[in-house]
Amino acid sequence: MKHLKKDFVAWVIVVLFVMMVFTIYHQMNQNRYEYIENKDDDSYEQLHPIVSEKMEELLDKATKQNIHVVITETVRTMEKQEELYAQGRSSEGNIITYAQAGESYHNYGLAIDFAIENSQGDVIWDTSYDGNNNGKSDWLEVADIAKELGFEWGGDWPNFKDFPHLQMSFGLSIEELKKGKRPLK
Ligand SMILES: [Zn+2]
Repeated sequence: MKHLKKDFVAWVIVVLFVMMVFTIYHQMNQNRYEYIENKDDDSYEQLHPIVSEKMEELLDKATKQNIHVVITETVRTMEKQEELYAQGRSSEGNIITYAQAGESYHNYGLAIDFAIENSQGDVIWDTSYDGNNNGKSDWLEVADIAKELGFEWGGDWPNFKDFPHLQMSFGLSIEELKKGKRPLK
């Protein structure tokens, strides 16, 4: 009898443990993503609160290193993306993006672009500028801070390098975002 009771207790523990693991796994998956209904309507897209919070931290940290970061772009509508994609193709100018509407993390409020304000107050895109005179490029210092905060930097991309670009994918691909999947807020 004593032996049976022990076996029973052991089984209960095993079953409870397995149930707990399943529940936690399920919750984790549930909590990471949500599906949105009107995936073709981008008018409501806002900068994701975590991206927004990390952007503020980036500005603070850069300021402490005497670098004045300027955010030049956050959320970009599908219409704006089409216009940018047309530039250098069906309209004048240089090609500035390889992403069509819906193919940029900007379209989902998950990306920002930055530039630097120099000591004269001009906004510059000079990646070698060293305004704080510490022997390091300010631009690369900003990229390093951003990466520490969890951003992916477009300057690290192997092909088309997008130096002003910072994004957070939350593990979601563009394909998943297009289908209406969104990181939870
Ligand atoms: Zn960008």
